[in-house]
Amino acid sequence: MFSLLNTLVEKNKKYGREGKVASYIPALSEANPDELGIYVVDSRGKEYYSGDYNAKFTIQSISKIVSLILAIRDNGRENVFKKVDVEPTGMGFNSIVNLEASDSGKPYNPMINAGAIVTTSLIDGKDVNEKLEKILEFMRTVTNNDDISVNERVYLSEKETGNRNRALAYFMKSTGVLDGDVEEILDLYFKQCSIEVTARDLARFGAVLANDGVIPWTNEKFIPKDVCRIVKTIMVTCGMYDASGDFAVKVGIPAKSGVGGGILATVPRKFGIGIYGPSLDEKGNSIAGINIITDLANELDLSIF
Ligand code: GLU
Repeated sequence: MFSLLNTLVEKNKKYGREGKVASYIPALSEANPDELGIYVVDSRGKEYYSGDYNAKFTIQSISKIVSLILAIRDNGRENVFKKVDVEPTGMGFNSIVNLEASDSGKPYNPMINAGAIVTTSLIDGKDVNEKLEKILEFMRTVTNNDDISVNERVYLSEKETGNRNRALAYFMKSTGVLDGDVEEILDLYFKQCSIEVTARDLARFGAVLANDGVIPWTNEKFIPKDVCRIVKTIMVTCGMYDASGDFAVKVGIPAKSGVGGGILATVPRKFGIGIYGPSLDEKGNSIAGINIITDLANELDLSIF
């Protein structure tokens, strides 16, 4: 496996030059587009890696999986899906028009910004700090990494420039979909997006989901199996922005990407996969990341379909 990963990193690095690092959050524009790292954890917890697997980056949209799991844990699945649907949009992750167009007024799914702002608002806690601690604790457990924390520079950069997310949130407040203090909800959302991780952290989290919520290195049952199933299903239909259909056809693995350049993929009962490549394609997915996971899925026959 190590030599396969080395070969695939060398082969796919070049794609970094064909995309662009995100710049709408100014602090993200400092990433090095040539970096590419991959980390794989199998169902017994054995780990394989290559390239820039140790590079740190912010989790961004991959945190939407965490807020969905915690929202379900705190409220039950019926109550969560009263506020957010589970339908793909075919539109950008921060689209405003599709929020107004939705008949129910609910965001289409928890993997777009509007939907994640709703799931974040449903996490219980007395204030932003307590809720953030719950998110960080969850992340530390599924990554086996006590150092998981927020990158303050990215958080402040996003908070300063996140007006589109403000627009989405205030719109949802006006229609009654969002309850509570909008600025506080956004503050927590910006913080959760700015959690710093490596490809290794994402791979371990992916391995927990692949293992139906049982942590491979402790055997603890950490996430209920039915919640893992919901999350993985939504990852297939909505996890790779509006390229999710194409990704399902080409790769066929539940996955979630983020504009920080990360991809978390989870192959049921087999592997968790974490990828970092900050140069993005026009949909917002890591361009080298998509190419390397396509090759890996083909080599190991990983499609779930
Ligand atoms: N924090 C980013 C935003 O809300 C997350 C976007 C993403 O990774 O898709 O714009």
